[in-house]
Amino acid sequence: MRARSRTGCSVRDGGKGVSARLSQRTLDMQAMYLTGVGPGRADALRRLGVFTVRDLLMHVPHRYEDASTISPIKRVKIGEDATILGRVISKGVFPTRRGLRVFQAVVKDESGIIECAWPGQPFLDRSIAVGDLMLLAGSARFFHGRQFAPRETINFGADPGDEAKGRVLAVYPATEGLSFKQLRALIDRHLDQLLPLVNEYLPPPALEAAKLPPLRDALRMMHRPATLAEAMQGRSRLAFEELLFVNILHRRAKTLARAARSGIRFVNRRDLTSKLKAKLPFDLTAAQVKVTREIVRDMTSDERMHRLLQGDVGSGKTVVALFAALLAMENGFQAAVMAPTELLAEQHARTFAALLQPLGITPVFVSGSMSTRARATANKHLASQEPLLVVGTHALVQEGTSFGRLGLVIVDEQHRFGVEQRLALGRKGERPDVLLMSATPIPRSLALTVYGDLDVSILDELPPGRQPVTTVRRPAKAREKVHAFVNQQIDKGRQAYFVFPLIDESDKVALKAATQACDELRAGAFANRKVELLHGRMDTDARDDIMRRFRDGEVDVLVSTTVIEVGIDVPNATVMVVEHPERFGLSQLHQLRGRVGRGSEESFCILLGDVSPESEDRLRVVVESQDGFKVAEADLRLRGMGDLFGQKQHGEPTFRVADPFRDIALNEIAREQADRMLTADPELRSKENAPLHAMLRRRYERALELFRVG
Ligand code: ADP
Ligand code: MG
Repeated sequence: MRARSRTGCSVRDGGKGVSARLSQRTLDMQAMYLTGVGPGRADALRRLGVFTVRDLLMHVPHRYEDASTISPIKRVKIGEDATILGRVISKGVFPTRRGLRVFQAVVKDESGIIECAWPGQPFLDRSIAVGDLMLLAGSARFFHGRQFAPRETINFGADPGDEAKGRVLAVYPATEGLSFKQLRALIDRHLDQLLPLVNEYLPPPALEAAKLPPLRDALRMMHRPATLAEAMQGRSRLAFEELLFVNILHRRAKTLARAARSGIRFVNRRDLTSKLKAKLPFDLTAAQVKVTREIVRDMTSDERMHRLLQGDVGSGKTVVALFAALLAMENGFQAAVMAPTELLAEQHARTFAALLQPLGITPVFVSGSMSTRARATANKHLASQEPLLVVGTHALVQEGTSFGRLGLVIVDEQHRFGVEQRLALGRKGERPDVLLMSATPIPRSLALTVYGDLDVSILDELPPGRQPVTTVRRPAKAREKVHAFVNQQIDKGRQAYFVFPLIDESDKVALKAATQACDELRAGAFANRKVELLHGRMDTDARDDIMRRFRDGEVDVLVSTTVIEVGIDVPNATVMVVEHPERFGLSQLHQLRGRVGRGSEESFCILLGDVSPESEDRLRVVVESQDGFKVAEADLRLRGMGDLFGQKQHGEPTFRVADPFRDIALNEIAREQADRMLTADPELRSKENAPLHAMLRRRYERALELFRVG
């Protein structure tokens, strides 16, 4: 959405054209009018989301290199990283035996001299002169003596100012055709001219409460910090701004939603719900009872329900959803359950059909891949006034699908839908109640920041009898041992999953890899077992057939792409081998692992293959924790908020700088300040708040609308 408002600016400026360049410099000026930015660079900048000069100033370094601690050249040791500052005393370009041309310079400081080499960069000979003062960060190696290999080169020229004394270097997100060094040079070149154009828009008391510098100072600190601490201060100022804005939006959205929140008042008739309770093959967990009560309370009130139900994989969200659906139905309304994949929707339809059979209720199924005739029949049901339970994919929100009396909307795995899709389902009825479900738990305070106007229920208990899944990492060379172990399990009568990553179902290369691996397993370690391959591109009948046979114990090894993440419930399956575990998100691995450990036997999840040390570190989280909450938190911490606010969720304010996990304290202050400001001035109409109001509008124009329930 920020890109949208940027485009908005660029259109306006485009109209003013050249005169804007000549007469008035404003932050809305297009970056391409800056000296040093030609058409190629302008394109590269646009790819980075930089359209205007303001965007350039707001281009946040993603890390810093601390060159403020400079080593005397004499002390630089072979094999160690160092930053040195010295003058070039001689230089030249030399060919290597393999035909590579190397620029070399000997650099001297008060303590000694060192030879520095830039292989493959002979062009440096033109820009570096004898007598230049150079700041070099890199490492020393042995090459006919000590030789320095700079990763970073800054040339201060023959007559440098004070800045060369030592500084912290900003490293920017870069793109093809515009390196971070070029970006740094570009920003550095214009910073002094641009900063005076920057005006503060946050109210001073808010900044004081957070102990942060005003914007102009913050930007200087961020781009050209004297120390790392200063760089962090600058960054914090921008993070605070984002958190403050989002908190303001959420509070405002909440107020608006409350005001317009009258909804259906269901009556707890204890008719269908009581019947279901009597027929359930198990007792509800205490957590299920608690959240079901919370939902019933919402649904029987005058206010519209807008609740998020969070619970780890296997915590039993489905049956809770079913109680809510029955409550709607016993009041004569329709309830719709939307799932992100066809397979999951089918699974729900089947589960519901089985549980509701004793009540004489059959759910209606709707998906994109149904025959036209079946779809027409389903649509006719939906459009009628009869109370129904409808289960489907996003086909439910397509045009042409309309409901006669939709009273409750349930969105499963809600984070896999975009905002628009979530809202669209709500709009298919007259202010239906909304229940969102997710297996990716995030802390409650965060949920409020992330989802805004939502009440949150948490299923914090698994049904009894679940075993923790013993999870281990094994290198590729242990593959045979792993296979032998799986064979032992099969000898004991158990079954196994082999999982291969598949980014999306049209990924042919990965599909081929999975197919090949399946053939190998069939021919090799599991030659005398029944091995089947399951993937999302198979037609439903073939897939169903394999799944049914696996469930019934006729298949020993199920090789599959990630489709099983959401599909299968087989208590006798006790081993899961995950190939290329580094390609999965941590939460995804945790969900996959939830497919085993469903019976009374000890279960195993083996993450197999050679991975980078970083991946090893990341995977350790899943190995060491069985707690979906912890896994999700680590996942978000490691991957940033990107996925949570994913590209799909256009229109929601995103965090570019802030990380609500790391910036918890800052977020607290932001929330307090947002509360304080809106209590005093609910619509931010006062004169003091005018600059803030303008900035909110420009950035989050559509956000308020999107934050409404529907
Ligand atoms: P999730 O929260 O991941 O959607 P499900 O609703 O699919 O979990 O439930 C996982 C499994 O646990 C299902 O097989 C379901 O029948 C079973 N289950 C749900 N609640 C209970 C309970 N209270 N006692 C025993 N088993 C339960
Ligand atoms: Mg579920």
